[in-house]
Amino acid sequence: MLASGSKGNSTVVSSTHTRILVDAGMSCREIFKRMRAAGEDPEMLDAILITHEHQDHIQGLQVTARKLGIPVYFTEATHRAWMRWMTPRKRLTYAEWLAQRQQEAARKKAEAEASAAPLDADLENPFYREAELAECAAEEEELKSEEKTEADPCALPGVEYFRAGTNFLIGDISVSAFTIPHDAVDPVGFVFQAEGIRIGIATDLGYMPPNVSMQLRGCDVLMLESNHDLEMLRDGPYPWSVKQRVMSRVGHMSNDATAKFLESQYDGQASYIILAHLSESNNLPELARVAAEFALRDRMSLLGNRLVLAEQRAPTESIVL
Ligand SMILES: [Zn+2]
Ligand SMILES: [Zn+2]
Repeated sequence: MLASGSKGNSTVVSSTHTRILVDAGMSCREIFKRMRAAGEDPEMLDAILITHEHQDHIQGLQVTARKLGIPVYFTEATHRAWMRWMTPRKRLTYAEWLAQRQQEAARKKAEAEASAAPLDADLENPFYREAELAECAAEEEELKSEEKTEADPCALPGVEYFRAGTNFLIGDISVSAFTIPHDAVDPVGFVFQAEGIRIGIATDLGYMPPNVSMQLRGCDVLMLESNHDLEMLRDGPYPWSVKQRVMSRVGHMSNDATAKFLESQYDGQASYIILAHLSESNNLPELARVAAEFALRDRMSLLGNRLVLAEQRAPTESIVL
């Protein structure tokens, strides 16, 4: 896990022969930096696979794919949503875009001061987000000037469509994509299989429906969302409308919801359980860990499960099976 949380998500899944980047939710520079820190060579990536079009999963996508010259796997609806997200911003020059962002930030600040309301929850840390976005835009500009053409803002080296509910191969890794309940156009989770190992990734989901818990059976590594502590979210700084969104059936899994899954539906097969997409405003790593450990109390030691917490700010140590 190179990063996990509402400011950016990226994970590398690899077999002996194939390396896949799951989501590109940071600037290309940051993705490369973190891959190197984790002992991975970005040049060795074979493909990028996208779960859904939210910014924290796609913001470095175009630059990363183009720098590496590798295909991007989307559902068709997610690809279209990504193009819509790219297009308006890319028509501006970087200087225009930056000026517009600054104006917008000034307007928001004035509004916030006027109403004394908390900042929009999408911007848990607005400064980090702005810096990350500016870096992505600068990289896109750089890439364009290197190519010296008025490039198509949505150009990618290759686009491959898959459908939720199907299996397909990337190199020697078999990928199974399944629908997850989340407020994006066509969000999916994945199960990867290669060399007798099964890895499941299900983050960004409002609850755990039967199709998802079925898919997650028999996984050796299970990456699950443990987004928020319900009390912290309730008492926290988000406006009520955003709290409702996060708590809804198409929002994010709470520590309690994940613990409930681990206690009652999880099959106890995994060697590693990764808690991911923790909110920095509405959760504490210790709360997520304690909830999951309590849920696994009867099985942890018996099966040698290991609980890993994915972080926003640093890559997690590689899991090798
Ligand atoms: Zn997300
Ligand atoms: Zn999302």
